[in-house]
Amino acid sequence: MKHIVFLSRLTEEAQFLWIEHLNSQLQNQTVLLPDQIPEREEALVDIAIVSNPNPEDLLRYPNLVWVQSLWAGVEGLVQALKSDVFNKACLNKRSLNKKSLNKKSLNKASFQLVRLIDPTLAQSMAESVLAWTLYLQRNMPCYAQQQGQKQWRKLQHRDSKDLRISMLGAGKLGLGSLNLLQQLNYSLSCWTRSPKELDGISHYHGQDGLKAMLEQTDILINLLPLTPSTHHMLNKETLAWLPKGAKLINFSRGAVVNTADLLACLDSGQIEHAVLDVFEQEPLPVESEVWSHPKITVLPHISAPTNKETSAKIVAENIHLYRTENKLLESVDIKLGY
Ligand code: NAP
Repeated sequence: MKHIVFLSRLTEEAQFLWIEHLNSQLQNQTVLLPDQIPEREEALVDIAIVSNPNPEDLLRYPNLVWVQSLWAGVEGLVQALKSDVFNKACLNKRSLNKKSLNKKSLNKASFQLVRLIDPTLAQSMAESVLAWTLYLQRNMPCYAQQQGQKQWRKLQHRDSKDLRISMLGAGKLGLGSLNLLQQLNYSLSCWTRSPKELDGISHYHGQDGLKAMLEQTDILINLLPLTPSTHHMLNKETLAWLPKGAKLINFSRGAVVNTADLLACLDSGQIEHAVLDVFEQEPLPVESEVWSHPKITVLPHISAPTNKETSAKIVAENIHLYRTENKLLESVDIKLGY
């Protein structure tokens, strides 16, 4: 009998809640915490379900085949798996346990990493994208300030068809958001790594494509994963390609944006307003000037939270597929980082 382990850095209460949801969806299998698996049975663990785990905990299980994340974004885990510290720990563990370890295990992340792909999450992100797009389109940050000053002043806004919205990334979350925005007739563009053809959406790729798209953007929405190629991709050079007064929504990962450059662009008026749900450091430190910047709306990483019911069902289906047909879902390309 194979085992499934649950690894996370969540509170005990949160872990039990997850395990309860997962076990209620699984047939003939139970998800166990590390302490519930005797050492002699650790080699029987072939699946780990993880939520922000300590990556080194994965090394306890020499025959791990796949790691299922409960998060859609796995940037932190991917970076950790690629790190020297992790690979050194793999080698150490390997030499310590030569006899007990299966040969294929514990070389650089020999297991597959599968992230959570949940249509409910994509819907939730699409709703957030629409909500905050409307917030910017209908000048809500200005009206909030005017109310504070008891000012009665009507502001112009652009009609949807004249508002150029550009999306960085058109994966599971980006495409879902674009599809919802399309229903309101916005003028839409997106930028991705590989070329694509999308109905009714202008598509760009490559560095030239990025500049061409940003030059025609009123609201820029970031849904790119954080990888070595996207780290600080929005910086003083690229933000300057936007028309003066453009607005930014960052809903993927904080470090895709260079915060110091963004603050300078907001202060100069190059960027009129930024809605930020993600930050280079989370929670956003109390001393950060981002909190009180009049041109920034701060959200506490809530644009698309994981839904326990739907995600437990999806994970259980993935496990069933693997147990019955030996099929694994598309896994994260550790080299590409997403
Ligand atoms: P995904 O399906 O993997 O899609 C990623 C998209 O980014 C793809 O279109 C990909 O291009 C593009 N991309 C990646 N690297 C690129 C590069 N170097 N240059 C240009 N395009 C690049 O990811 P997803 O499910 O849509 O999720 C996106 C991100 O959302 C996650 O990584 C996570 O950080 C974030 N997220 C945030 C929350 C929240 O609550 N704030 C919740 C969940 C997830 P190709 O199409 O060419 O591959």
